Amino acid sequence: MSTFPSRLLEGYKTFMSGRYTAERDRYRQLAETGQEPHTLVIACCDSRTAPETVFDCGPGEMFVIRNVSNLVPPYEPDDNLHATSAALEFAVQALKIRQIVVLGHGRCGGIKAALDPNAAPLSPGDFIGHWVKLLKPAAQQIQDSQLMTSGERQIALERISIRNSISNLRSFPCVKILEDRGKMKLHGAWFDISTGELWVMDPQTGDFYRPDLPLA
Ligand SMILES: [Zn+2]
Repeated sequence: MSTFPSRLLEGYKTFMSGRYTAERDRYRQLAETGQEPHTLVIACCDSRTAPETVFDCGPGEMFVIRNVSNLVPPYEPDDNLHATSAALEFAVQALKIRQIVVLGHGRCGGIKAALDPNAAPLSPGDFIGHWVKLLKPAAQQIQDSQLMTSGERQIALERISIRNSISNLRSFPCVKILEDRGKMKLHGAWFDISTGELWVMDPQTGDFYRPDLPLA
């Protein structure tokens, strides 16, 4: 008897009889010709904000990087282990993806941690604490504002972190050069888990607004 989680085996069974069967030709084609995803999405690990679900994308459509709070570190060519930078490099240089979306979301635990400098580490390594230090300058300014409620601070930093990630994307020469040539588009989006609302970032102002959806 398998010790593999039964919930996952049940889901796999449904997937094989449903989606895989319906899209068998597409899976075969993807296996033979390789993937050509149209979009790179950088999203949070949060289980409630899976980009393939939010954007209703099928196999092969989206190349997805997920990490705590959808952060992009700055370009640092050194010997450290840069998982996000490695995936970004592959998406842009090997897969030739020319459209990147940084997808943030409401009630993000990583953002909450960034706003609470006194939070106890979850383990001696404090990996989350180190990771969200990428947001430290912005988090500090927001913490100091007595005019905002904690809910407002949270949403503000969630959106600032999206702009911050886009700014750090531009520190990668492979992204910057293509964008300067008009061949790369960078987008920001924020998904509100509780209402399902999607907000997108105006590339000029950095403001977030609710986009008109295509007519059926
Ligand atoms: Zn999150």
